[in-house]
Amino acid sequence: MLAATAKEFAPEEGALFAIGNCPSVGITGYLLGGGSGDVTPSTGWGSDDVLELRAVIWNGTNAEYITANKEENADFFWASLGGGGGLGVITDIKTAIVQSPEPLPHEDRRKFLYIQNLEFHYFGEESKREGLESFRRFLYEKTEESHKFGGGGFLHSESFRLNGIYLGSADEFIESFGKNGLLQDIPPVLGYHTIYRKMTSEADTLEDVCDGTGPCQDWPNFPGTIIEFESYGEAMLYKLCYQVAVRDDIEMRGTQTSGDWCKDLKISSDNCVSGKYGQKVPICGKREVLDALLEAAYDPESFFNHGGPPEWWLDLAIKDGRVPYKDTDDLPTSLGGLLIPDVDVDTL
Ligand SMILES: Cc1cc2nc3c(=O)[nH]c(=O)nc-3n(C[C@H](O)[C@H](O)[C@H](O)COP(=O)(O)OP(=O)(O)OC[C@H]3O[C@@H](n4cnc5c(N)ncnc54)[C@H](O)[C@@H]3O)c2cc1C
Repeated sequence: MLAATAKEFAPEEGALFAIGNCPSVGITGYLLGGGSGDVTPSTGWGSDDVLELRAVIWNGTNAEYITANKEENADFFWASLGGGGGLGVITDIKTAIVQSPEPLPHEDRRKFLYIQNLEFHYFGEESKREGLESFRRFLYEKTEESHKFGGGGFLHSESFRLNGIYLGSADEFIESFGKNGLLQDIPPVLGYHTIYRKMTSEADTLEDVCDGTGPCQDWPNFPGTIIEFESYGEAMLYKLCYQVAVRDDIEMRGTQTSGDWCKDLKISSDNCVSGKYGQKVPICGKREVLDALLEAAYDPESFFNHGGPPEWWLDLAIKDGRVPYKDTDDLPTSLGGLLIPDVDVDTL
């Protein structure tokens, strides 16, 4: 679905579909379970955008091929979208595509941000309460702004950390998150600083715009990286590339990579570097890598769309025992859209 939005629409049209976090998950099982992704706060659940299903069912005597939508076989249609399946074999799914919010009046085109490890540090109990309460208020009481952001959160004992997609420009994000108390202004001497990078349609690689100097010197000095793209497809593919190929041991299990991403993606080895287990990981900020990932995502037979632990990883983890279990106090909420419950801050 992601590849379809990126290949069949021009980036400036802002075509969106709420896909999940892991390329290995099949679209049918995902939609049968509801389907929550980074852009869910804006588009709704994946299943909200399904228009029609075709399925083979058993009617008690023989198999029947049916069409189900809001008018025809409406019970089957309703029960399938979020009900988890089991009613028949779905063969076709027709969905709507949702358009991303308009850019601000003075902006000439839509922009899409990948928010990477935006941290909110607790400086004592009071600051922890304030941070969590500001975030809860933003999500539940300022939905006209907060629907543009979705992703995953990690609640640690010292901070909470967000990763996700923002449907707007860096300037709009700073304005919106800043005025809602979600960007801390931490003195650079404590070792944190804002990093802002972007990829324009003419560039071959990500460009470093500033890291505490340049255009963002007027911004709060919050810990985190924001990366701006001109297409939703590129922002999501960059995120998936970083999470699945680069970030950590656990996520490496998510595709049937051979351990050499450049070979799998059929691109030159200049586009990869050595990972910590000797695997070749892609340089996600290169256009050649993003274009190759898009082609792989569009091909249902590609390694990228096949899940489960790949052989080289099993050899490392099980035979050699070299991949450690994740040792963290994370409380992840990272399956698709950010689902912080609307509960009193004392409960949080
Ligand atoms: C690594 C990972 C990341 C995930 N991230 C997200 C996320 O970001 N957002 C989210 O919402 N969910 C996420 N999930 C949950 C995921 O959406 C569900 O586990 C989903 O049910 C997986 O579907 P599947 O087709 O891959 O698995 P399967 O187990 O093959 O299918 C799930 C169910 O759907 C049925 N089914 C599958 N295909 C058909 C068909 N053609 N016709 C009829 N029934 C069918 C199966 O019988 C089964 O009951 C994630 C899961 C994993 C493992």
